[in-house]
Amino acid sequence: MFDVPHDGTDCANDVSLLVTRATTCAAAALAMLVLPLYQLIEIFEHQTPSDLLWLHAAWRAPVFLVALASLLVCMLQPGSGAPKLLLRLIAASVMIMMFGLFTTNMLHAQGNPEPMARGIIMATFAVSLLSLRGGWEVLLHFALPLAGSLAWLAFRGADLLETTTQLVDPVMMLVIAMIASELFYRIRGQQFALQRQLRQLASTDALTGLHNRRDLERRIAAEMSRSRRHAQPLSVVIGDLDHFKRVNDEYGHGVGDDVLRAVGVRMRRNLRSEDLAVRWGGEEFLLLLPDTDRDGAVDVAEKIRRTISEHPIGCNGQEVPVTISFGVAELTDSDQVADLIRRADDAMYRAKAQGRDRVCA
Ligand code: GH3
Ligand code: MG
Ligand code: MG
Repeated sequence: MFDVPHDGTDCANDVSLLVTRATTCAAAALAMLVLPLYQLIEIFEHQTPSDLLWLHAAWRAPVFLVALASLLVCMLQPGSGAPKLLLRLIAASVMIMMFGLFTTNMLHAQGNPEPMARGIIMATFAVSLLSLRGGWEVLLHFALPLAGSLAWLAFRGADLLETTTQLVDPVMMLVIAMIASELFYRIRGQQFALQRQLRQLASTDALTGLHNRRDLERRIAAEMSRSRRHAQPLSVVIGDLDHFKRVNDEYGHGVGDDVLRAVGVRMRRNLRSEDLAVRWGGEEFLLLLPDTDRDGAVDVAEKIRRTISEHPIGCNGQEVPVTISFGVAELTDSDQVADLIRRADDAMYRAKAQGRDRVCA
């Protein structure tokens, strides 16, 4: 029912994007460092036959290229959403490579599958840390290359007992990684939900669900400088319900509260998503209208005034007639926040003085 503050969500998204980008860069850099290192160690150890060395290089080279491309994209396009996809691509290519190396060594007469099985354990651990999307994703990264590897080994008639022996530890690691990743994912999800709820509570008026005064104070200066930067108008409208004390006296405080809620709903219905509707005081409202000049703001206020005064508010089977007075002010070059609000407030008091239920600018 309530609007989620734009900047709160954007901010969370920004942070999440930054973290994903940093993680992708780190994973890519690590892959680019480690893959040639392993290849060089194997070359200088002289224990791996040269045809196997070439096969190892053939498995490692595509992952190296994926990592290089990911690093370049992350650095050249910092704002894009690509890192998330690239991180998955790195994780998947690493797992495929590890199972490829394992299978190759299982099938080669002088192959040594043991270090490759250890590599699968390390890769599973890393993927479960990096992917951060719960146990299913870890399983997916593991299960698909495992199935491919087993199918190929069976097709080539590899020793079933040795294959099973080599894969016991990696599968154990898979289970541990799935549990850890799932736990971490859930905790993180709960934290995100909680932070979101807190941000929303801190910026929302409890009765009407509109933005509260603190939220406006946080945003108005930014809106003013944005408006000046882009040479776009910005207007403020202040509305105060007429003779609201009488509503409370005649119908009771509970009905008064219902009226305030209903007025909030009618305001929101008549505003664009970029406008901000604020409960400014007890029965006072403030509307912050970006890209709107004085005449546009008067039109908006007039429309809201009519939806309120022409349709009595239904509460507990009673029809409560309510009217509202509005004051409008447009931002000028020399305005501080307080000046803009004071001019809207002055205009609202003029509307009251001229008989209420009207808009003054
Ligand atoms: P006018 O603005 O037209 O001059 O008259 P008014 O009767 O609205 O005057 P005033 O602004 O002095 O009174 C506002 C009243 O609004 C007083 C207060 O009881 C009531 N009010 C403020 N906050 C709430 C609220 O949260 N719920 C209810 N039910 N009433 C509230
Ligand atoms: Mg008042
Ligand atoms: Mg009033």
